[in-house]
Amino acid sequence: MALLPILEFPDPKLRTKATPVTEVNERIRQQAKDMLETMYHAQGIGLAGTQVDFHQRMLVMDVSEEQDQPMVLINPEYVPTGEKIMWQEGCLSVPTFYEEVERFASIQVTALNEQGERIEFEAKDLAAICIQHEIDHLDGKLFVDYISNLKRNRIRQKLEKLHKLQGKA
Ligand code: ZN
Repeated sequence: MALLPILEFPDPKLRTKATPVTEVNERIRQQAKDMLETMYHAQGIGLAGTQVDFHQRMLVMDVSEEQDQPMVLINPEYVPTGEKIMWQEGCLSVPTFYEEVERFASIQVTALNEQGERIEFEAKDLAAICIQHEIDHLDGKLFVDYISNLKRNRIRQKLEKLHKLQGKA
């Protein structure tokens, strides 16, 4: 197990479009374990491969109260099944900022699990929002892309300043 460094906005690597996982093997399962450990450590509810500089289509999540229901979704896809709602989101790659984003309240999800088996289920509310947010990451998209340029630039400037202080940039 290992904690992975999380890329932060505006790192251009977060704009990478991830490619499909071609084989669910031991290496992928290890990556999923490391991502889950990283996500729990950072107190997040979801983490996409893109955020840890791993550009294959995989995400991990846990939206349970007790944080004891880890989920791994490989090559995930969804179709909307509910109406659009506004939801306040945050992101481990955009730390300390929260903004309202329009998402579908429910979606039908298909993916492979960490055994390489095809799974299909309906996700609602927080789980649905989380999956849409993480799949966006796999497409190189961030929740700040949905807000105004003014707000996004303000967030970028604040994080750039912080990264300089931390010696990251
Ligand atoms: Zn995120």
